Parts: sequence; structure tokens; C-alpha cells
Amino acid sequence: MTNPIIDLQNVRREFAAGDTTVVALDDFSLSIQPGEMVAIIGQSGSGKSTLLNILGCLDRPTSGAYRVAGRNVSELDADALAALRREHFGFIFQRYNLLGDLTAAANVEMPAVYAGINARERRMRANALLERLGVGPRGGHRPNQLSGGQQQRVSIARALINGAEVILADEPTGALDRRSGEEVLKILRELHREGRTIIIVTHDADVAAQAERIIELRDGRIVADRRTETAGASEPVARTAWDSGAGWTGALGRLREASRMALVAMAAHRLRAFLTMLGIIIGIAAVSSVVALGNASQRKVLSDISSLGTNTIEVFPGKDFGDARAGKIKTLVLDDARALDRQGFIAGVTPTVSTSTTVRYRGNESNVLVNGVGESYFLVKGAKLAKGRLFDADAVRNIERQAVIDDNTRKTFFADDQTSGIGRVIWLGKVPCRIVGVIAQQQGGFGSNQNLAVYLPYTTVQAQFTGDRALRSILLRISDEISTNLAQDAVTTLLTQRHNTRDFVILNTDDIRRTITSTTQTLAFLVAAIAVISLVVGGIGVMNIMLVSVSERISEIGVRMAVGARRSDILQQFLVEATLISSIGGIAGILIAVLLGVAINVAVPGFQVSYSAFSIGAAFLTSTGIGIAFGFFPARRAAFLDPVVALSRD
Ligand code: ADP
Ligand code: MG
Repeated sequence: MTNPIIDLQNVRREFAAGDTTVVALDDFSLSIQPGEMVAIIGQSGSGKSTLLNILGCLDRPTSGAYRVAGRNVSELDADALAALRREHFGFIFQRYNLLGDLTAAANVEMPAVYAGINARERRMRANALLERLGVGPRGGHRPNQLSGGQQQRVSIARALINGAEVILADEPTGALDRRSGEEVLKILRELHREGRTIIIVTHDADVAAQAERIIELRDGRIVADRRTETAGASEPVARTAWDSGAGWTGALGRLREASRMALVAMAAHRLRAFLTMLGIIIGIAAVSSVVALGNASQRKVLSDISSLGTNTIEVFPGKDFGDARAGKIKTLVLDDARALDRQGFIAGVTPTVSTSTTVRYRGNESNVLVNGVGESYFLVKGAKLAKGRLFDADAVRNIERQAVIDDNTRKTFFADDQTSGIGRVIWLGKVPCRIVGVIAQQQGGFGSNQNLAVYLPYTTVQAQFTGDRALRSILLRISDEISTNLAQDAVTTLLTQRHNTRDFVILNTDDIRRTITSTTQTLAFLVAAIAVISLVVGGIGVMNIMLVSVSERISEIGVRMAVGARRSDILQQFLVEATLISSIGGIAGILIAVLLGVAINVAVPGFQVSYSAFSIGAAFLTSTGIGIAFGFFPARRAAFLDPVVALSRD
């Protein structure tokens, strides 16, 4: 006799059932030679399925030794058991256990994917097997388009694709009509004649009679083991040469299978996949656009501020910012400006006054804000000259009627004039003034609103419009070597002394910049916190759906394990699905954010929302990372399912 392919020595398998233990197999010894055809019979509960699960390496004995082709199973880990199943066994189930989402041909190919056989070879083998089993034209059909008999033939083809020396069949004809059952048995006998070992569990005495050896179980023990007169096998089947599936082509094939299954699963539940994605889409879109908007507005505000010039402070009448009675406080006067000008730490003083009047030029008329300023005002405020020149200290001293107009005024009156108005005389109320310069429009600074503004020497405005009345403000340029805060304190002391009360407020550009920077930092932090929360919520959505997906597909997982999928294959399949859902969601979210940015850029002039390749890449990586992080737990749960438990789930 040759060495047995299957050898059980004193095997015991017990199950915990509440407080007691159920012994399903007891002191069980059995050896089966290569090429035998064995029927296992016995009443329900006698241990047939338990035996078959142990033989197929889906389950392990509690004690005792099981050797497959000489290898002791108890020494093997989960992946090595999966390899044994791939290399030696082919399973045929009572309920066929085909995957409903795949075509018949794809079902047949599946074990070959896990064995690392390349796609062309796989397809050839699958087609040849389907042809041989009489279901060749049905390869492209789904299982639910096939009759029971056809499905069972497809499942036999699946069992054979890796060459299976040993076919394990649990009630293979149990769900079939008589004729289909006979055909399946005929196929099994044929496989037996080729030299394969066939082990059939059955209730049916007629089925059992087809075998050359019948083993009867009762209460987990063998009560009869007899041979029939049926002719034996010619020669045991030769072991096929195995591809371990460990090479990179094998790994690639398995990754492709995992991706295909992920797509199939998503296609089968489109709405669900979309709703899951929606969490990620909204999260990524919101985070990306809020971050981009925040950056754009910070850029804008800071550039507005830097156009205000540096190291300046401006004194306004009023007890506080926004003081409603500030207009009634008339104590800020020219003498204050002169007193401040005498201080060593002050580099320049510009009193400002203002009034509104009408401006007329050749029959056109409009309202205008007339600003009386000193010659250094433009420098301190960071105004840029577009055309002509600014007025100088002499013009201020001599109360000259020289006007500098802003860009709005130029557009209103001199849009078609080659001179831009330089040299022209405009009437401000009843006062004619000659235009000497035009200042450029600046973001957030000069001419950024719709109002017209004209700048005259403050002496002229006081002489012609307001009289020697209160100032609108005093603008001070601080010497570079003095700190703004120190200067501010000195100015406060001086003016408080002069007024006997503190009836003015001081605006310091440094303070504004600091406030805005710290405000935007706080905002950025808040946005980041919201971002993390929304992405975690999106991730939990992914995890939730993946858990549902796993529990819906437990029997699929069982089938895959039975045909030899490794734990890593199952893990990969669900991880790929989670990652695909969240990275597709991420791409959609990025697209929405970019479109939103374009829309804002078009709708709000002067606002520049932009996305760097870095931020897009970061958003994409984040969404992918969420898929991996939140998909891992469900995927691991699937991978560590017990094959027997998974298979028995319906
Ligand atoms: P058969 O297939 O011959 O009907 P089984 O092998 O399914 O018998 O079961 C044999 C015995 O083991 C039965 O008493 C059954 O209740 C018990 N059994 C099988 N599987 C489990 C399990 N997972 N947990 C507890 N008891 C089990
Ligand atoms: Mg059973």
C-alpha cells in the first residue's frame, strides 16, 4: 500500500455548548488512500460535517493527529492551512455556494486567483472545465440564471481548477432533482476514475452505493467501514506542479481580484456606497474650501494692512472706537498737531480734515469727499501715484488750490481724457481747484469703494471749507528707532495733559496686524478642529458600512477561505473596498472645492482662492488614509473569521 493521503489518529473534536461540552468526534482514526472513493453515512448529528471540515482543514481537531500527505496539520498556521486547501482540496457544497455577484466563469477562476495563476491560464482552465462539465456556453451567466444542476457543475469546476487531488462533497446531490443528481454523481465517478480521491457525505443509500468504501458514523465514532464491489481507480492522479501565488504576478492578480470584488460590491449597493461617500465628500470639500478661503482672506487682509504703511499711529477724537458723540468732540485741533510735531520721536505729522461737497466739471456733477491732508500723508498711507505729482510742503504752507484725485474721480470725469485730468480745473462747491495728480486704485486702500475722493492741502480745506475747526485726525509717523508702543504712550500723555481729559483714541497699525494675525490663527485652529471632527465622522460612516458589508458577506468570506484565500487576501479585499469608497469620495470632494473656488474667484473680484498641488495631494491622501484607518477594523474582523463558522452562515 502507498502512503495514505489522509490519516487521522485518535482524533477528538469537542464543542463547548453552554456549560457542557459536546463531543462530535471521539477517538477517531481513519486513513484514506489516494484515489479512493469513500462515502460517509450516518444519522443527523453523528459527526459527518465535523469530520469533513477537519479533513478539509477548515477546522482543527481538539486533540489527536491529522496528517495530509504526511504533513501534520496541527503544526500549521492559518495561512499554511489555506495553502493546503488550495493545493489539495476541492469543496462541493449542498447549496453550491457560488458567489451571486460573479459570473459562472469568474466563480470557477476564483481559487486559481489565490493560487497565483495568471489571468490567461486561469481563463483557459476555467473554460475547458466548464466545457467538459457541459456548461461551457453558460460561463458568462450569473448563478441565479442557472438551474441547480448547472450551478453544481459550476461548483465542481471551481473545485477542480487548481487540480484538487481530494474532492470533499457535503451532500452534493441533496438539493438536486433525481436526474441532475445522477449526472453530478456520474461526474464524481469520472473524477474518481481519473485517480482523484473522492469523499462524499450523504444521507442517500443509493449515492453511498456508488462509492467503493462506505464508512458509517454514529455518535462521533465509526461503526462500520466496508468495501463494495465497485471497480477501483486505475492510477492515483499525479500531483500538479503548484504555483504558490507568492510571486509578484500572483500578488498583483490577488490585488486585482480584491479591486474587482470591491467594485462589484459597490456596484451592487450603489446608493449605499454613494451615501457613505457623501460623508467623505462633504468633509473633504468643506475642509479644503474653508482652508483655501481662510488663506485667501488672510492674504487679502494682510495686504490691505501693509498698504496702510508701517510704524504710524493715528489719533482720532472720541472716548472710544465707535464713540457716537465723537463728531461733537472738537478738542483735537491744529495746535495739538504742532505740539506733537515738536516731539523728537515723531518723524512727521499730518493733520487731516474732511468735508463733503459736490464736484463739477463741464456740466457733470457728483458728490465728493474732500480730504485736507499734509504733504506726507500719501507717503505715510502708502498711496501710489498713477499720474502727475503730489502737492508739496510749499503748497500746504501757501494754501494752494492743488488737488490730487483718486481713481474713481478720474473714471467719473476724465475717463475719455488723455490727460487723466492733470492740469484741468474742477469746481469743489464754489472753489476752483487745479488737478496735479491721480493716485492709483489699491486693494482695500485708496479708491477701493465707490465714493469719490479728492485730496487738498489741509490748509486749503480749512481756509475754503471748514474754517479753523476741529481736525478729523492727526496722522503721526514715528521715528524708526522708537517703538510704536512707547510713542503711543508718550502721545497719550501729551494729549491728555493738553486736553485735561482723555477724549481721543489712538489707532496703531501694528496692533491691527497683530490682532488680525492672531484672529486668523485662532480661526485656522478652529477650522482644523472642525475638519478633524468632520473627517472622523466620515470615517465612522465608512467603518459602519464596512461592518455591514462584512456581515452581509460572511458566507462569501467562508467560501473564499474554503477555496484557499489567505487571511491577507480577505483583509485586502475589504480594505480595498473601504479605501476605494473614501478615496473616490475624496476626489469628488476636491473637485467640488475647486469648482467652488473658481466660482468665488469669478463672483468676488479681488479675492484669489487657489489650490496648490500640495493641498490637493494632502486632501487626497487624507481621504485615502481615512479609508485605510477606518476600514482596517472591519477588514480584520472579516479576515479572522473562523472558516467553518463563516461557511455555516446562510
Ligand atoms: P452531522 O453533519 O452528521 O449531522 P455534525 O458534524 O454537524 O453532524 O455535528 C455533530 C455533533 O456536534 C452534533 O451533536 C452537533 O450538535 C455538534 N456540533 C457541531 N458543530 C457544533 C458547533 N459549532 N458548536 C456546538 N456543537 C456543534
Ligand atoms: Mg451535517
